[in-house]
Amino acid sequence: LFVNVGHDAKEIGGDELNKIVKSGDVKDILVVNSAVAEIYLKPEALKKDSLKKVSKNAFGYNNTGPHYKTTIGALDKFEDKISKLQAENPTVVIPSPRFETRINWLGPLVNYLLFPLGILALLWFLVFRQMGGPNGPGSQLFNIGRSRATLFDSKENGKVNVTFQDVAGLDEAKEEVMEVVDFLRTPKKYTALGAKIPKGVLLVGPPGTGKTLLAKAVAGEAGVPFFTLSGSDFVEMFVGVGASRVRDLFAQARAKAPCIIFIDEIDAIGRTRGRNSMNSNDERENTLNQLLVEMDGFGTDKGIILMAATNRADVLDQALLRPGRFDRQIEIDRPDIVGREQIFNVHLKNVKTASEVTASSLAEMTPGFAGADIANICNEAVLIAARRDKSEADMLDFNFALDRIIGGLEKKNKLIAPEEKNIIAYHEAGHAICGWFLEHAMPLVKVTIVPRGSGTLGYAQYLPKDEYITRTEALLDRMCMTLGGRAAESVMFDKISTGALSDLDQVTRMAYAMVAIYGMNERVGHVSFYEMQQQGGGFTKPYSEETSYLIDTECRRVIEEQYERAKALLKDKRYELELLAKELLSKEVLHKSDLERLIGPRPSGLKLI
Ligand code: ADP
Repeated sequence: LFVNVGHDAKEIGGDELNKIVKSGDVKDILVVNSAVAEIYLKPEALKKDSLKKVSKNAFGYNNTGPHYKTTIGALDKFEDKISKLQAENPTVVIPSPRFETRINWLGPLVNYLLFPLGILALLWFLVFRQMGGPNGPGSQLFNIGRSRATLFDSKENGKVNVTFQDVAGLDEAKEEVMEVVDFLRTPKKYTALGAKIPKGVLLVGPPGTGKTLLAKAVAGEAGVPFFTLSGSDFVEMFVGVGASRVRDLFAQARAKAPCIIFIDEIDAIGRTRGRNSMNSNDERENTLNQLLVEMDGFGTDKGIILMAATNRADVLDQALLRPGRFDRQIEIDRPDIVGREQIFNVHLKNVKTASEVTASSLAEMTPGFAGADIANICNEAVLIAARRDKSEADMLDFNFALDRIIGGLEKKNKLIAPEEKNIIAYHEAGHAICGWFLEHAMPLVKVTIVPRGSGTLGYAQYLPKDEYITRTEALLDRMCMTLGGRAAESVMFDKISTGALSDLDQVTRMAYAMVAIYGMNERVGHVSFYEMQQQGGGFTKPYSEETSYLIDTECRRVIEEQYERAKALLKDKRYELELLAKELLSKEVLHKSDLERLIGPRPSGLKLI
């Protein structure tokens, strides 16, 4: 390949070669690089030979002059051939072949450098074209450090057309974010007063409860651009990409301010940073650090409000929750029956339904459903109706849709069977009754049987008391109240369930604290092993086996006493217990006012210790 043999040479084949060599006109035979033979003619022969004409143009290109050339297959064969010709024609002088090695720079250069480069360039071109050019769909490869946020903007990408009207229920949450909306609309009103608006709002709640929707509605109400992306969009296998995406996101946001950035599933980057370096994820930490840096880097006056959603706030790094960052947390729970009815109303508006389909009846049939499940049902129902060529979806279609979705939810363990719901209602009512009638229990705020994201099936919420010392009576009452759930199950059904796990955990801690830390037990005495236990590192007990046994039995006795007390109380108040449980079953949430309505004012009022 690419051997530089004269451009002024005429290529000849084997027969021609024979003829020329035999003619006796050959002056010189030169074998170049053992691959090509150049045949030079004597000057007088050259004159009459047609070669002159052939090589006219190229003549003078190099000083070897016009000549023939022929490609040699095997070198020894070529030599044989020449000697044979010599032997056959002893009268003509045939020069023996001379050998020459010519180094050709151009050839290797082209071979080894330009050629591969050319192929690369071609590939590049093809790949690029495949991806649709610099702005094509595949161009992220080149923009790996850019943020993946989707922007909803009034000009370019269609306005955010979600408003608070589209978000049903969630009244408390809406009220909380109203301030943000108002600030984005008229920032001057706030900055003039020197008010500090929260920079970050964290929406906490199980999936599908409308967190994204609410954030979008805030942008829609305020009429500002809305950037949305998920926490996992930052994380890539390449180091440094996450941090660079965060930087890029904020740079884009600054250009569009005032605006809202919404980060879904912030736990993907915001988890507590590695306590043990063994399994810490440096890339994720870098990303989180960069986010913190950016959040600190702008004041609210810039008009960027960060909203984020997670379904667990407890796994988030404390640094994220500090003042000046996500300092406002809004809980968004699965909707109760009233909330579900409102959500059904929103979604039924967009589909054609028969008059028998009402939001209230559907809400009754869907305990534990989140907003997304409800939107899903409405959509499924009209799909089913359409497949049956109906002009509107009737209750039958909704029932089919319900069955289908419940099937899916059951797999995810999100649904509660009616008899379970019954048990949960009595369990929570048990807590509520105990709390209501025990003098030192904390005042109740609400009790609900709507399942929460973190795996609890229902809960009773109490107002924590502001107190630095707690008396024995208060601790005992609190234990009694905590055991009220299981006690109610026992009183009502003569059976107990696993639903009391976290209650029992709490009670055990309290009992242990009373006996071994606060010295509140007569038989163990006024002793505390708190400090010593800490120093012992948990390996050695700071007390004897005997004391250890005593602590155990006393803990158990205290708990047993309070359990019996709760049972006695509930047997006494059985009528009230049933009243509450039934009301809970139908309304799912009861507030303090409902309890007052149902069972009268709290006997000891809100008397504290
Ligand atoms: P999350 O972000 O909490 O996972 P989304 O906001 O993405 O949930 O909700 C998904 C869909 O469910 C929404 O697009 C909406 O159609 C429906 N949805 C959820 N909550 C509500 C609500 N409160 N009112 C109306 N629709 C809702």
